[in-house]
Amino acid sequence: METGTRGSLSAMTAIESKTDCKDLDQQGLAAYAESLGQPAFRGRQIMAWLYRPGITEFSQMTDLAKSFRNLLSEKAVISRFNDQIIERSSDGSIKFGFRLNDGTTIESVLIPEEERNTLCISTQVGCAMNCQFCSTATMGFIRNLTPAEIVNQVCTVRDFLAKEPKNRLPGPKTITNIVYMGMGEPLNNFTHLLTSISILTDQKGLDIASRRITVSTCGIVSQLHKLGKETNVNLAVSLHAVDNKTRNRLMPVNRKYPLEKLLEACRTYPMRKRKRIMFEYTLLDGINDSDEDARTLSRILRPVPCKINLLTYNESPGIPYRSSSRERIYAFQDILRKEQYSVFIRNSRGTDISAACGQLATKQVKERKTRQFPAIK
Ligand code: SF4
Repeated sequence: METGTRGSLSAMTAIESKTDCKDLDQQGLAAYAESLGQPAFRGRQIMAWLYRPGITEFSQMTDLAKSFRNLLSEKAVISRFNDQIIERSSDGSIKFGFRLNDGTTIESVLIPEEERNTLCISTQVGCAMNCQFCSTATMGFIRNLTPAEIVNQVCTVRDFLAKEPKNRLPGPKTITNIVYMGMGEPLNNFTHLLTSISILTDQKGLDIASRRITVSTCGIVSQLHKLGKETNVNLAVSLHAVDNKTRNRLMPVNRKYPLEKLLEACRTYPMRKRKRIMFEYTLLDGINDSDEDARTLSRILRPVPCKINLLTYNESPGIPYRSSSRERIYAFQDILRKEQYSVFIRNSRGTDISAACGQLATKQVKERKTRQFPAIK
């Protein structure tokens, strides 16, 4: 385990009453500049500085008048994570633990590959959705992350990659893909999700193309249409069962938004031509992995333009489900392939450091009790 820069934990600690500029996208910054008696375009100027590596103070924004820089220093802050715990998996994945200014912690996972670096980020501390196979659910819901806390995960890992020796990475030294699949249900923190996407995709922000960003939901039907209308990001839906009885048991959200409603919302989801929804389906031994389940899956997904990810289950202590056997997973895939679906098998990454899908938080809960994260100074 490594630690990041130690010291005063977070710029956020001392500045709670000030405006955190990273909570605002370009439009928000323009409105903020106006509220300080400046023209709106100053917001664009601030945005152009905020996400440059090494910019930590308003005094560095040299194309702003000195009086305005002083006013910003008085009224606002540029937050960042100064402390992180880094754990490396034997398969190359890297888990980052961030302590927030209220003492809660979140995790992000970087998955380096030859062609890409995918960063899985969190949107909440804990989660209210109580999916039965997920470790994050065992924390319960603690709070939503601010936009700044969402984008600071990306900023910190970007800076980490820039310093990482090339021989420790199989591929690029930049973050190429973002998946909102860490702790929390992104659509339950909708406004901050949208602001963070706006900052990530802004050319003056983190400049990551929408097509390289995926938001994953357990099926919050009420927000799906809005997400498709307001962004161009990819949508992933955690399905994990083909009938309401099984899905009610695995994912309590299904009692509110049963399969019929979810699939209808997916069928009418506003997305660009040729885009497809990714359905995530974790194969659980004896629960949802029969041939009959595969045939039903094929039937119920037929009206939806989609691809399917079959996930091997990452077993976690205290959670009773087991992963399906390799043979079962291949047989399941075969049935779907014969029905002309694009079906991928996603193997677990980072299981040895509890960084794989559904494993975030188990260790963190323990760490909260034993206080392994550095104290705020
Ligand atoms: S799987 Fe996702 S939505 Fe379900 S409890 Fe875990 S973090 Fe929440």
